[in-house]
Amino acid sequence: MRYGPESTATAGIPNVVTALEFDRLFKLREQHAIKTKSIVFIQCVGSREKDRMYCSKVCCTHSVQSAIELKQEDPNRMVSILYRDMRTYGQREALFKKARELGVIFINYELHGKPIVESRHKQVTVGVWDHVLHRPLQIQADMVVLATAIVANPDAEKLNKLYKVSLDGDGFFQEAHAKLRPVDFTTEGMFVAGLAHYPKPVEESVAQALAASARAATLLSRSEVSLDAIKAEPNLDYCDGCALCLDVCPYHAITLVEEKPGEDGAVSKYISVNKAQCKGCGLCQGTCPKRGVAVQGFTMDQITSQIEAALAV
Ligand SMILES: Cc1cc2nc3c(=O)[nH]c(=O)nc-3n(C[C@H](O)[C@H](O)[C@H](O)COP(=O)(O)OP(=O)(O)OC[C@H]3O[C@@H](n4cnc5c(N)ncnc54)[C@H](O)[C@@H]3O)c2cc1C
Ligand code: SF4
Ligand code: SF4
Ligand code: SF4
Repeated sequence: MRYGPESTATAGIPNVVTALEFDRLFKLREQHAIKTKSIVFIQCVGSREKDRMYCSKVCCTHSVQSAIELKQEDPNRMVSILYRDMRTYGQREALFKKARELGVIFINYELHGKPIVESRHKQVTVGVWDHVLHRPLQIQADMVVLATAIVANPDAEKLNKLYKVSLDGDGFFQEAHAKLRPVDFTTEGMFVAGLAHYPKPVEESVAQALAASARAATLLSRSEVSLDAIKAEPNLDYCDGCALCLDVCPYHAITLVEEKPGEDGAVSKYISVNKAQCKGCGLCQGTCPKRGVAVQGFTMDQITSQIEAALAV
């Protein structure tokens, strides 16, 4: 997954970093991390608005945790967190409480009053409307840390095309059913877990990965796998191998068979359906103009009889 700053009004201002960049600096104890006396975290940068309505879910905890470490390292530091909603859910609430006890300042902002980061004479200032105090605040900051949105990896589209695994509107992988099949893809034998599914903290990623591996084990432990009965069946009396249906099959289940020329020199062409790959969706049947292929149990004659029976009632 990518953790992208995207385009922010702060791009290019020195001492304005993303959460990941801050982590690297803090780990290395580079000059920024050890000398800074005033640090401002800005939450929900690029999340929960316009094109990205989802919550990135980990950034509140990440900023609160970082703020605690900064305060523990130097209690005289001024650490402020500008937030829309503090989503330190579950047991993470204890971190929120601890940060407040250590003196981290939490300032709530609204979407219509987003913080404004400006740089003048090498000094970064963050302006925000404090709607509790009912007045604008200007905070001098040695460093500003942006909790930027977690965005889907564009590579997911390649996997989507290759394995026919669905993506949601935000580009994350989508499970077959949120409640009934939460780690399955609609494509059988494919499972999903982790940040590629949607933003989530590490323990949720691990729990989901365990569930996905358990689902995979139920398949791998079988010596035989039974297929559904509903599969496409070519009708070689009608199929002339025109290949119209090949590209429409979303599961690449159809191959064109070309037999060597007979004595008359004619090449015999027809299709073959891989029953393990076919999902019985019927697209090939709907495409074929010659009744060269039909889904078992749903042949044209059967469907016609059903319609006639329904109309006769
Ligand atoms: C800035 C940030 C802060 C976070 N803070 C917290 C926190 O405080 N607490 C918490 O619980 N969670 C936090 N998380 C979430 C946590 O990091 C994730 O839940 C966890 O890393 C998800 O694990 P994953 O294996 O699904 O994905 P990842 O950790 O993203 O691992 C995916 C791996 O796949 C590799 N990869 C990608 N594409 C390919 C490819 N085509 N071929 C081969 N390899 C590939 C990547 O390089 C990567 O190593 C945070 C996440 C971010 C980004
Ligand atoms: S986790 Fe917090 S900072 Fe991140 S998008 Fe959700 S509310 Fe905003
Ligand atoms: S099944 Fe129909 S569409 Fe497909 S190759 Fe045969 S004739 Fe063409
Ligand atoms: S029924 Fe659907 S999955 Fe099966 S061969 Fe036809 S198009 Fe492909």
